[in-house]
Amino acid sequence: MDVLESKEAAFAVTMVRQAAQLTRRIQTSMALEGLTKSDFSPVTVADYAVQAIVGRALAGAFPAEPLVGEESSEPLRTPEGARTLDVVTRFVSKITGGADTEEVCAWIDLGAGETADCFWTLDPLDGTKGYLRGGQYAVALARVEHGQVTLGVLGCPNLGTAAELEVCGLGALVVAARGHGAWCAPLDAEDTFQPMRVSEAEDLSQARILRSFEPGHTNAGEIEALAAALGVTAPPVLMDSQAKYAVLSAGGAEMLFRFLSPKAPDYKEKIWDQAAGSIILEEAGGRVTDLRGAPLDFRTGRTLANNAGLFASNGRIHDRVL
Ligand code: AMP
Ligand code: MG
Repeated sequence: MDVLESKEAAFAVTMVRQAAQLTRRIQTSMALEGLTKSDFSPVTVADYAVQAIVGRALAGAFPAEPLVGEESSEPLRTPEGARTLDVVTRFVSKITGGADTEEVCAWIDLGAGETADCFWTLDPLDGTKGYLRGGQYAVALARVEHGQVTLGVLGCPNLGTAAELEVCGLGALVVAARGHGAWCAPLDAEDTFQPMRVSEAEDLSQARILRSFEPGHTNAGEIEALAAALGVTAPPVLMDSQAKYAVLSAGGAEMLFRFLSPKAPDYKEKIWDQAAGSIILEEAGGRVTDLRGAPLDFRTGRTLANNAGLFASNGRIHDRVL
């Protein structure tokens, strides 16, 4: 297994593991302190704290490579954000060995980079609703070179340890590098990576479909109509975040759809919502396109402006379903 030989992959795996473990600690300790019922939630704290630690570490390790992250410190710099910023700073500070609120804001804003020939993209907490519900969510970090995702890491604290679908599993860490395969390890164990492979199933009547948990992020009615037309018998599995890609890559499903919500028919995917998951799936033998069959185009800035919706599969059934 040579996927971790590159400096970039070793860095990304270490950071995502640390960040994913932090999200879990924030959830537990804020619940214990009764902080969840106040005017801010653990999801907000975790989101900013992760971007701060990843932004800081990336600037140290790869100072020439910009970070395109989902969050900005702006809301934290308002009077309403002050208490959240204090709590974020407390958690970040434990990891960095001290930090003040100004430093934390500056680290978060390292994620305001522009896309470039070579850049990183981060979703500090993908699947915020899943995090709040105790369901699936992920820390997602990817590196893009000349419009192609070349490295992707997902930390999924509530998946099974081999990225199998499990309600509140012990957690999985998934990494893929272009040409080096997709690999999975328990989130809390070092150096036990196993190769990932998509399912070999071709019979559509037995196929398993993954889709968003949030009805507003997709078009559940159209997915159900398509499933019926394809002869799929099992009901779809509803799941938040790029954990869906991890499950598909581990052979736990055959298809993943993002149909456009009727409430946002022109929605364009954010690159940080697809970059890490898509390379993991491709390296596990699967395939991902938009709903028209076009490859995902990561050359158009912060969104996939040239794509509409999303269809990912184990590869074998892809053309038939398209
Ligand atoms: P999921 O976990 O599949 O529900 O996807 C979560 C991601 O959906 C979030 O990170 C959002 O960036 C993104 N999202 C937000 N609004 C929409 C929308 N109207 N359509 C599709 N995706 C959305
Ligand atoms: Mg997201």
